[in-house]
Parts: sequence; C-alpha cells; structure tokens
Amino acid sequence: MPECIFCQIVAGQTKTEFLYQDQDLVVFADISPKAPVHLLIVPCRHIKSINELESKDQALVGRIFLVARQMAQKTGVAESGYKLIFNVGRGGGQLVDHLHLHLLGGKRFKE
Ligand code: AMP
Ligand code: ZN
Repeated sequence: MPECIFCQIVAGQTKTEFLYQDQDLVVFADISPKAPVHLLIVPCRHIKSINELESKDQALVGRIFLVARQMAQKTGVAESGYKLIFNVGRGGGQLVDHLHLHLLGGKRFKE
C-alpha cells in the first residue's frame, strides 16, 4: 500500500469515485469542498508538485488543463466561471504531496 493518499486513490485502494479516468489522469471530488464544485485533477504518476515537473511532462501538463476544461463543461460551471489552482509546497498551501489541480466553481469568488 503506497503511503501517498492520492497514489492509493489512483490505485483503486479507496472508495473514491472517479468522475473521469484515463491512463494518465483521474478526477475526483475533493473530500472537503471549498465550493459547490470542487474537483481534483490528478496525474496517475506520483509527481510531488509543480517544482518536480520535467520537460518530458509537458504533454501531461497540457492534458491536465484540457481535462479541467472538459470537467468545467461537464459540471456546468464553464460559463459561470471557475478557478484552477495548483498549491505548491507548504507555504503555498499544499498538504498532499502528489501533484493536483483544484477546479473550484459554482459560486461567485471575490478575487
Ligand atoms: P492541497 O492543499 O492543495 O494539497 O489540497 C489537497 C486537497 O486534497 C484538499 O483540498 C483535501 O480536502 C483533499 N483531499 C485530501 N484527502 C482526500 C481524499 N481522500 N479524497 C478526496 N480529497 C482529498
Ligand atoms: Zn502519490
């Protein structure tokens, strides 16, 4: 059993439901949602954070954003607007050390 909670989720070792899944990425709902729509777009491969990205990951990063766009449409927030956030490191608010993009929508953000 991997130590990383997101690796466990990717490996199907939890009851987490996937809203999207392919060989490179999974999408699931954040367990502690900060907005009516709060999804996490997560690469299957364990990459700690944006700091650990390499040039070979270029296509993967592009796909993360394209899947985010697709999920925004699917959840109905594409037109009303949404936020995409990568937290990086503890100072950046990152608590799970497995790269993930937050998609937040369904409410009006102040900034
Ligand atoms: P971050 O602070 O950017 O590392 O975000 C980690 C996010 O993962 C937080 O918003 C948590 O609520 C969420 N999270 C942690 N554990 C789980 C889990 N088992 N399933 C879904 N989301 C989780
Ligand atoms: Zn991991």
